[in-house]
Amino acid sequence: MDVSMEKIVTLCKTRGFIFPGSDIYGGLANSWDYGPLGVELKNNIKQAWWKKFVTSRLDMVGIDAALLMNPKVWEASGHLATFTDPLVECKNCHERYRADQIDLKKACQKCGNKDTFTEPSSFNLMLKTWLGPKEDATATVYFRPETAQAMFVDFPLVMTSSRKRVPFGIAQIGKAFRNEITPGNFIFRQREFEQMEIEYFIHPSDWEKQFETWLAAMHEWIVECGITTSAIHDLEVPKDELAHYSKRTVDIEYDFPFGKKELYGLAYRTDFDLTNHGKASGKEILYTDPETNEKYVPHVIEPSFGVDRTLLAVLTSAYHEEAVEDETRVVMKFPKHLAPVKVAVLPLSKKDELANVAYPLAEQLAKRWRTDYDETQSIGKRYRRQDEIGTPFCVTVDFETLEDKAVTVRDRDTMKQERVPLAELENYLSKQLGC
Ligand code: ATP
Repeated sequence: MDVSMEKIVTLCKTRGFIFPGSDIYGGLANSWDYGPLGVELKNNIKQAWWKKFVTSRLDMVGIDAALLMNPKVWEASGHLATFTDPLVECKNCHERYRADQIDLKKACQKCGNKDTFTEPSSFNLMLKTWLGPKEDATATVYFRPETAQAMFVDFPLVMTSSRKRVPFGIAQIGKAFRNEITPGNFIFRQREFEQMEIEYFIHPSDWEKQFETWLAAMHEWIVECGITTSAIHDLEVPKDELAHYSKRTVDIEYDFPFGKKELYGLAYRTDFDLTNHGKASGKEILYTDPETNEKYVPHVIEPSFGVDRTLLAVLTSAYHEEAVEDETRVVMKFPKHLAPVKVAVLPLSKKDELANVAYPLAEQLAKRWRTDYDETQSIGKRYRRQDEIGTPFCVTVDFETLEDKAVTVRDRDTMKQERVPLAELENYLSKQLGC
């Protein structure tokens, strides 16, 4: 269903998915903190991605590189010279905009002034700091604007230590920083965000086939995340708009509540990066085919995924409102493996007799799955709360439990309830959750 950003932002704040960063100090422009449920959802997404694209494949390995890299990396990659956005400023109120995101013929969105924008200038998005006690140019380093470059720079060491043969890929999940001119739309565009990226090294003659294979794998992942597929669109980036390193790029776009925008990107980066790092470091990066003895610079297919944009697409796809007995039930229909809380144990009353069974049961289940324990308010209200955070199963302990040693298990999506013997509960949940 279509959901407004307002509803998503409110639910995220009140239920503990995502909060404004540094809130008690009035926040810090467009920074966001993941709360107790947000961190679980984010971790589940990253784990599912790592399992699908790294550990379950024989042709993939992972790294976790330092966030600050030698500045020569950014010179060789072209980021220092070209990682820019066109910046314009309103001459009246000095509000700054990305020139490619507004109509320059229209009035300033903030003060309404007409014919007001300065000529566009190039604004570099790299965030700078310095290492060590001297604050000068020799100590300048940059927060990485993408995780990709470490996979190129580490390529020779990864290849020799892991003894992989082309085609193979290196993956990484981690933070990236961009001094975006206009961050916004909640977690969609931030200055500090997280990426999941793959650099897949291939023989140049293989690129078209590999490109299609990776595009299909990215679509498969989207389905597994429960993201509404009718809201997904592939955009073939026109030749004259391609990034300096790319020969073909497909942006996978999603209908976010604020419009159709890039969710992921898939690029054929040719041998641009390995060749440039080879030249700039003076250490040529070559691969020798063990069968044909052919020596060549591997080419690269790059599937790039934003963690935060995945989370936003998952949240907006999972959001449902349903009419139940004259009331509206809000339910987050997360795929079970992504749900932040898998099971909630709810004693029907606060009486000790029930807590004595329910609390140890919750402790037992928590050893396997993220488990919630809630004994306040009516059972109906507690079910609604669990629906709102997307918990697939609620387990109710009632007075009958003391007699028949069984509990009631309620399914989030169907709301059907089933009596399950306590001795069989773990097996039952394991089968239903698939983990
Ligand atoms: P955009 O055109 O939206 O600025 P981009 O083309 O610059 O994005 P890439 O450089 O291809 O983005 O980065 C790869 C992925 O990282 C994107 O597909 C997106 O999921 C994510 N991403 C990029 N910039 C941001 C940001 N500022 N905040 C959150 N996620 C981002």
